[in-house]
Amino acid sequence: MPTPTPTPRDTRPLAAAAMLIVAITVTLAGLLVSSYHDTIEREQTNLRNLAEAFAAQTHYATLALDLALARAAEHAPQDGTDTAAVLSGGAPEAIPARVRRLGPDAPRRPQPSGAPKIGIALPPGGGPAAITLARVLPDGPAVIEADAAYFQRIFDSADLGHGGSVTLHQRDGTMLVRSPTLPKAIGHSFIHTPLFQTHLPRASVGAFEATSPIDGVRRLYGYSAVAGYPLLIVAGRDLADTLAVWRGWLWIAMLAWVLLSVTLAVLAWRMSREAARQAALIARLQASERRLADGARYLDAILDSLATPLWVLDAKRRIVLFNRAFLQFTGRTGDAVTGHLEAEVLDPAGAGARARLYADSTADGAGDGVHALEAEIRDGSGATRTAIQLAAQLRSEGDAVQIVNSLTDITERKQVELRLAYLADHDPLTGLPNLNRLRRVLADALQGEQVVLLLIALERQQEVADLLGIEAGDDAVRQVAARFDALAPAALCVARVKANEFAVLLPAGPGHRPVDAIALELHALLSEPVRVGGREFHLAPVIGIATYPQDAASANELMRLADIAKHRARSEAGEPVHFHSESTHIQLDERLTIEEQLRHALARGELTPHYQPKVDIATGQVTGFEVLLRWNSPVLGPVSPARFIPIAEQTGLIIPIGTWVLRTACAQASRWAREHGIATRIAVNLSIRQFYQKDLLKVIADALADAGLAPHALELEITESIAMSRVDVVERLLGGIRDLGVELSIDDFGTGYSSLAYLKRFPVQRLKVDRAFVRDLGRDADSAAIVRSVVALGHGLSMRIVAEGVETEEQLALLRALGCDEYQGFLFARPMDAAAVPALLGRPVTSGA
Ligand code: C2E
Ligand code: CA
Ligand code: CA
Repeated sequence: MPTPTPTPRDTRPLAAAAMLIVAITVTLAGLLVSSYHDTIEREQTNLRNLAEAFAAQTHYATLALDLALARAAEHAPQDGTDTAAVLSGGAPEAIPARVRRLGPDAPRRPQPSGAPKIGIALPPGGGPAAITLARVLPDGPAVIEADAAYFQRIFDSADLGHGGSVTLHQRDGTMLVRSPTLPKAIGHSFIHTPLFQTHLPRASVGAFEATSPIDGVRRLYGYSAVAGYPLLIVAGRDLADTLAVWRGWLWIAMLAWVLLSVTLAVLAWRMSREAARQAALIARLQASERRLADGARYLDAILDSLATPLWVLDAKRRIVLFNRAFLQFTGRTGDAVTGHLEAEVLDPAGAGARARLYADSTADGAGDGVHALEAEIRDGSGATRTAIQLAAQLRSEGDAVQIVNSLTDITERKQVELRLAYLADHDPLTGLPNLNRLRRVLADALQGEQVVLLLIALERQQEVADLLGIEAGDDAVRQVAARFDALAPAALCVARVKANEFAVLLPAGPGHRPVDAIALELHALLSEPVRVGGREFHLAPVIGIATYPQDAASANELMRLADIAKHRARSEAGEPVHFHSESTHIQLDERLTIEEQLRHALARGELTPHYQPKVDIATGQVTGFEVLLRWNSPVLGPVSPARFIPIAEQTGLIIPIGTWVLRTACAQASRWAREHGIATRIAVNLSIRQFYQKDLLKVIADALADAGLAPHALELEITESIAMSRVDVVERLLGGIRDLGVELSIDDFGTGYSSLAYLKRFPVQRLKVDRAFVRDLGRDADSAAIVRSVVALGHGLSMRIVAEGVETEEQLALLRALGCDEYQGFLFARPMDAAAVPALLGRPVTSGA
């Protein structure tokens, strides 16, 4: 956290206060100075007036003394006491005075008729002083001595305060009277003071300020010359006394100034402190706002730097916050996202799952935990991504619950995981499962099922690599691996377990193809040479086989026994396929013998067609015959078609045999018609391999044409499993057969899984209910129900229903009751030699049958 910088004090209030104080000071000083001058001036005026007033009084008094002197000279030529009267306030006041004649011995100097000679007489004993007025009268000089106290009393009437004084001077500067009295100064000359030197010569009346030479007191003075006499009145007032009031104001003003200044200064100081504090506060607020803004920007920058899409929803599931990755993911602009409902922005397919996630996240007790959802979600470009969405509730102030979400795209990780899982389980060269996977499949398969394990080693595969290099060796392996594709639909697992070894796990038991057949087929397939680098290689496959649970009780044992069988196959020359169990091995042996014998059976004329009649249940009339092949081998004896037909299928021998049966049957039917007048229909079984032979239609057409048989006299039986094998091809072939005019029936109906939709599309005239249902009729209710529904189905599609393997009257009665149309079985006749047919039909038997 940054330390707050000290905020500079706001000096403006201080400056304002200082200026105010200066203004007040100047104003106050101005006022004080002017009031000082006023005071001084006023006082000087007062003093001048006073001096003038006293000068006037003195003038009158002096005049009165002067008159009294003159009068005394007339009336009383001897010395004597007299008084002079002065008019004061209208009433004459007596001035105690004494006239003295100075005698003849006194110098008789002519006296100017102007002003008398004025002086002061100070008795040597220190008695009261007297003012003297001397004139030379016609009878000699005389002097009037007036009591100075008189003047003193006049002057005392003026109250000039402490230090105030009124003096009477002679014009030569001699002090005559002073109030208050100051005896030592009387008689002194003040001629050298500024009054006499400066002021008086300029004006007879005036005012000034000076320090008293007598007592050193600074005073204001007003002076006035006494008219008609060389006298001067000086009234003085102690300057300090004069200024006492002004000083009082000065003190008050100073006090006020100090108070005001202090108050102002304090106020200014507080204001400045307050302002500084406010400024600091504002600065702090601004700083915190800036920090907030910075913080928000900082957070935005962090969010945007994340590659994970983030978004926040409010309680209404509107998007209130998101980062750049979210915009990239959704392929939208910020405006198209802000405030929009999430459902409008994200893949709607996942809305339900997300709603549950949010409900979980915000449920009571969900707490602050993070809830997760793994889902497929389409991004803005429409690509489906696998992602983990994390959601957590965000409880902001005001209790509004928000949900913060993140999306972690794990598409690539998933793919890698899948790839790793695939690699852990598969052989990278061929893409086949590896030993690992085989073991797991095997473990699963052993939960009760019967299985058979084939281990196939390619003995000479190494030669390819040795001769042409590893690449060529790999190529050979890939070619071989591809050959296992034929087994893939039936197999539980086809795996490459070692460099030159494969394994095939097959289900076994009833309902499954015999293992020996598969093993032989596989052996034949793998024995075909592979072409690598322009050369052919025979890889010499050997196969070891073991079955569960007959041979082995566990997966490990099964693997071990199959391996042993494989080694035996390798060691026993001429037996490249080896079963662990003896009985299976013998069966295989027998099977190989059948195969061998069958190859020659046709050529050696060991095969004979037999005929089994089909009968109309309602009328009892024979409606046709089914051709069933019989083989009487000189080596093996009679062999059931159920045994040799599958081998003929696997070896491909069924093609020539089947064609021969078809042609023989057509010829036979044609002969019966020609020779016995038997108009009947002949049904020939078509196995799957025949059905898919390239020129099937031509073979049929040729057989009919060569025999001269009408097409509708021929019927072909295909099993339900053939009919449902490759529906489009089947539909086309069946259409072709129908176009020839040949009839069709579906054999062993009820054992496979027919689709009604397809059945409807096929031009089929008959459904043959499988022997197994007929056998169980009367024994279990299911069979009757199945037959009943087959009847209903067939009739619904305008087909006739034929029941196979009917052996008892009871079965027949039930079939009749269930609505079957025809039947076939030992009850009516076993498959018979062609020669027996005419007799059966009550026709004369002729030769060549
Ligand atoms: P499938 O087509 O279902 O033939 C009917 C089988 O039932 C025949 O067996 C027949 O002998 C037998 N059968 C007839 N009535 C009864 C009866 O009342 N009870 C019992 N238990 N069986 C009865 P078969 O002759 O052994 O033929 C077996 C299978 O071999 C035939 O089944 C057919 O799928 C096949 N097959 C026979 N001949 C030929 C042929 O020439 N070509 C082809 N492709 N397959 C043939
Ligand atoms: Ca049949
Ligand atoms: Ca059948």
